[in-house]
Amino acid sequence: MRLVLLGCPGVGKGTQAEGISKSFKIAHISTGNILRDEIKKNTYLGRKVENLVKKGNLVSDEIIIELIKNEISKHESSNGFVMDGFPRNLKQAKMFQDILDMLNLKLDKVVNIFVEKDEIIRRLSSRMVCSNCNSVYSIDDLKNMPDTKCSVCGGKLYKRKDDEKNIIEKRLELYETETRPLIDYYSKQNLLIDIDGSGSEDKVTERVLSKL
Ligand code: ADP
Ligand code: ZN
Repeated sequence: MRLVLLGCPGVGKGTQAEGISKSFKIAHISTGNILRDEIKKNTYLGRKVENLVKKGNLVSDEIIIELIKNEISKHESSNGFVMDGFPRNLKQAKMFQDILDMLNLKLDKVVNIFVEKDEIIRRLSSRMVCSNCNSVYSIDDLKNMPDTKCSVCGGKLYKRKDDEKNIIEKRLELYETETRPLIDYYSKQNLLIDIDGSGSEDKVTERVLSKL
């Protein structure tokens, strides 16, 4: 199974991708997590993209495509993948198509998750992320916990630098101009499934799995 997840920041792509990857035993490929990891490890690539990512700008298509080629070849022997955060604009979508054509692979579905804007801003500004396994929490859920550690792996939780109000706004604008056109692109290929992303994570996962 080969899937793409679409949706603006905060819509729950990361959480849903994790659930989907477990259910279908496919690779979860998150360009955002890969880039943050490179930044954390202070690699050559990490240093190159650090400022862009922290300020909510997009990384160049060339860097992203190299990274994706590498990820696809790394998971070649697996049952497929779910892309989270890629493609993010039409150019990336077309280059992705070329890569898939070359490998004789086809996308099965593109899952488009939507949530209303007020809820998105609330989610992003109260988001905490595990520095080890990338699980996502909300500050509201953590209020009554004395020790804010990840309940999955015990890792330390942190607030992403790009989850700050003015940067959130920039990311949402970039989503509108760069990424939203992909809905039309994939809809014309009859690949799109629309999913209401409101409510609990489990409810959303149920909705997604029922359509795959
Ligand atoms: P979100 O969807 O919540 O904004 P991600 O974790 O998907 O967060 O991405 C974080 C940042 O990583 C983006 O703001 C951007 O700087 C960079 N990034 C991730 N994926 C891509 C991509 N496909 N193309 C360009 N930049 C990307
Ligand atoms: Zn964790």
